[in-house]
Amino acid sequence: MDQCIFCKIARKELSSEIVFENEKIIAFRDVAPVAPTHILVIPKEHVESLNELEEKDYESMIPEIFLCIQELVTQQGLKEEGYRVVSNCGQNGGQTVGHLHFHLLGGRSMQWPPG
Ligand code: 5GP
Ligand code: ZN
Repeated sequence: MDQCIFCKIARKELSSEIVFENEKIIAFRDVAPVAPTHILVIPKEHVESLNELEEKDYESMIPEIFLCIQELVTQQGLKEEGYRVVSNCGQNGGQTVGHLHFHLLGGRSMQWPPG
């Protein structure tokens, strides 16, 4: 997707602080962090949101994303204290970037329910 900012980050046309990358996944620090650790994990392939996932994505893309999150949790030292993983979907979910992403948030105590 030409104009998608997360596709541009995945193609390295926009700079970001990358903390993990493999063939299918890239993870980078959020430009406006809401927690001491705030990382976005995205598939390199453009998928708009959770709504657009297809059956094949549950076989490779989604496991790859969660394996990446598991690695990041260890890399960032979040395992013991805990953390939150969130994917906002659509208008009511508060999604502002139309490229599937999972927020990994840690380093402070989270509130529930979210606003
Ligand atoms: P959403 O609101 O869609 O769940 O999350 C989008 C996230 O992307 C927000 O937390 C926002 O700060 C982050 N973001 C938006 N544009 C950029 C960017 O150009 N670079 C980085 N690193 N993060 C971005
Ligand atoms: Zn995209």
